[in-house]
Amino acid sequence: MKAELPAVTLPGGRQVPALGLGTWHMGEGEASRAEEAASLRAGLDLGMTVIDTAEMYADGGAEEVVGDAIGGRRDEVFLVSKVLPYNASRAGTVAACEASLRRLGTDHIDLYLLHWRGRHPLAETVEAFEGLKAAGKIGAWGVSNFDEPDMRELLGVAEPARPAANQILYNLARRGIEYDLLRWSQVQGIPLMAYSPLDEGRLIGHPALEEIGRIHKATSAQVALAFLLTRANVIAIPKSGSPDRVRENFKASEIRLTSEDLRLLDEAFPPPTRKQPLEMI
Ligand code: NAP
Repeated sequence: MKAELPAVTLPGGRQVPALGLGTWHMGEGEASRAEEAASLRAGLDLGMTVIDTAEMYADGGAEEVVGDAIGGRRDEVFLVSKVLPYNASRAGTVAACEASLRRLGTDHIDLYLLHWRGRHPLAETVEAFEGLKAAGKIGAWGVSNFDEPDMRELLGVAEPARPAANQILYNLARRGIEYDLLRWSQVQGIPLMAYSPLDEGRLIGHPALEEIGRIHKATSAQVALAFLLTRANVIAIPKSGSPDRVRENFKASEIRLTSEDLRLLDEAFPPPTRKQPLEMI
């Protein structure tokens, strides 16, 4: 039997699994595209139905890989894409979304994010997002790489509308948000999407993760992901272009980290003791 993935409830009530699929660096080479699409489909087969992409990745190439992967099974997927900040004017956001929809081969994106803050006023981007939502081209909108002060400002600008998520860098080696943004977001009911949950692969083979992995018969990647799955309101989106590694990552959901495991992780990756500016990759 397939293990159940923990779920996160989005504002509006929709539930999505807390473990999804990243796509950065997909679509960069012709040779690997079929394998990349197969990896995403392997994830969907296991119920990892959140797929995260962006117009930026491979200049639209990653969105095309996603389009290939979800052909015929769009309804299973919670599709996330992002507009680049320099496109995020009122008209530019709409045009960027329509181009993404074409590459993705679908008529709607479930969650559309501003990739990071740029020069266009937030009010303009939010207005465009709300227009796209009213037109049924996106289901919800959100942001990425927003620290707590940015989020407060956004809430003021967007009122009464609200962002459905904030996608940020969060993994064992980058725990800064545990000082403030994580808790604030939980209180606000705004889910966080943890990007680079394996620190772009740098956490693989870390001795502390290997040690805990030995107890659970798990790999270092699985322990790193299991840590994020202990956090309420957080959706981790590891990327792998290999179906086997996607299946490996899925099995992180079968690990129950003990309080002793968490203590060892705190020792190896100390949580923040003061405010740290939000890190970004
Ligand atoms: P990541 O998921 O932390 O790590 C990906 C790397 O780890 C790849 O090199 C992958 O290689 C490797 N990997 C994955 N599973 C593995 C396993 N079980 N064992 C060994 N190696 C493994 O890094 P990321 O791609 O930067 O972040 C994930 C997603 O977050 C991105 O793909 C993207 O969708 C999103 N993201 C968003 C932002 C933003 O600004 N909003 C920024 C960065 C990333 P293989 O593919 O060869 O398996």
